[in-house]
Amino acid sequence: MGAIVAIVGRPNVGKSTFFNRLIQRREAIVDATSGVTRDRHYGKSDWNGKEFSLIDTGGYVLGSDDIFEQEIDKQVELAILEADAIIFMVDVETGVTGMDEDVAKLLRRVNKPVFLAVNKVDNAMREEDAVEFYSLGLGDFYTLSSINGSGTGELLDALVEKLPEVENDESELPRFAVVGRPNAGKSSFINALIGEERYIVTDIAGTTRDSIDTKYNRFGFEFNLVDTAGIRRKSKVKEDLEFYSVMRSVRAIEHCDVCLLLFDATRGFDGQVENIFWLAARNNKGIVILVNKWDLVEDKETNTMKQYTQRIKKAIEPFTDVPILFISVLTKQRIYKAIETAVEVYQNRSKKIKTRHFNDVMLPIIENYPPPAYKGKFVKIKFCTQLPTPYPQFAFFCNLPQYVRDPYKRYLENKIREEFDFTGVPMTVFMRKK
Ligand code: GDP
Ligand code: GDP
Repeated sequence: MGAIVAIVGRPNVGKSTFFNRLIQRREAIVDATSGVTRDRHYGKSDWNGKEFSLIDTGGYVLGSDDIFEQEIDKQVELAILEADAIIFMVDVETGVTGMDEDVAKLLRRVNKPVFLAVNKVDNAMREEDAVEFYSLGLGDFYTLSSINGSGTGELLDALVEKLPEVENDESELPRFAVVGRPNAGKSSFINALIGEERYIVTDIAGTTRDSIDTKYNRFGFEFNLVDTAGIRRKSKVKEDLEFYSVMRSVRAIEHCDVCLLLFDATRGFDGQVENIFWLAARNNKGIVILVNKWDLVEDKETNTMKQYTQRIKKAIEPFTDVPILFISVLTKQRIYKAIETAVEVYQNRSKKIKTRHFNDVMLPIIENYPPPAYKGKFVKIKFCTQLPTPYPQFAFFCNLPQYVRDPYKRYLENKIREEFDFTGVPMTVFMRKK
């Protein structure tokens, strides 16, 4: 699990320019899974070998052109609540504005690392103009140009230095997170699941932040439920804000092994639900889709379920090997099944296939249908193995890895899924030079 860094600041200071610079630098190296649309305001980055998630909070606040003061307050409050570190971006061209002062006031009270980033310092002359930002009372600042990249390195050096150590959570218990849009039924689901507080076995306080993994023993399974703390403090920040649910999803997803993605059957698997799905998939987390409030769907012929399933699968292509369950928290229909399925997905995600067996199964399949020749060259795959990573990654060793195209990698992925059960788990297939 990585740390979360939030970028705050008023509109037009350059937050998204900065965000894109950091995200793209990485995406050029790690090729994005094909077919996956990138979230414009949330992504992974790394610096000096330290990985973190970056959130452009501005992007989640509506009407950001003529942003209301209230909105920016919310944005900052949520960043304070959910992030491990905050980058507060200001603009040297406009100098200190009243809105900057308001944000600074909120941030001065925070006991998380705050980095004041004076943007648009494209040349040395502007360096001098930046001194006025001392007046914000946040101490030293970093000058940078998001457009040409100068100064960003210094900021990132300081940032990753202050980020909490990435915990290698060795806990053997599956960690489940219940995610979804507001009103999907998440709290009801958790309540139904845990019944009364007496099911709580222990509270393991998060070491880096106030997030809490709570251990449950239910239906014969032991598991940790991630971020229920957030649910308890629901009253503090109104959850009707889409942004809040995204922020909280990000945090819960980062900390879990398997996401239980709930949505309201009467509202459908819409764009927002899809976003949360890809958030989980991009983070290589296990996923179970729960179509909730099934009791409200009238006319439940067998076809309805089938059609519903097809619609969801269409939306999540090409990663369609995901369990979809129709549940009702109200009537407790299939709640047990949901947890059972999540446990299975957890086991799939931590499954390790012995190299010998993997080769015995995969090499004949490859021989039967080898990678098509590319530019007149033949690719010979000689050997394959599952890598010892926390989620499934497979390396295929061959003479010309660069000539194996995405469709063939997808073919291999599909075959792996057919032969070994990896339902609910994203996987990566690499070609490596041998
Ligand atoms: P946001 O609303 O805070 O996300 O700001 P944007 O990233 O959309 O940037 C607002 C404007 O400032 C755009 O026209 C950017 O091209 C420009 N901009 C961003 N960073 C820099 C910079 O470092 N130098 C200059 N000169 N312009 C910048
Ligand atoms: P959250 O915002 O995702 O935590 O959603 P809540 O758990 O607060 O539920 C939102 C509303 O949906 C509440 O009024 C619940 O009683 C209702 N609800 C939750 N699950 C079901 C269900 O399975 N069937 C029906 N009919 N209502 C449900």
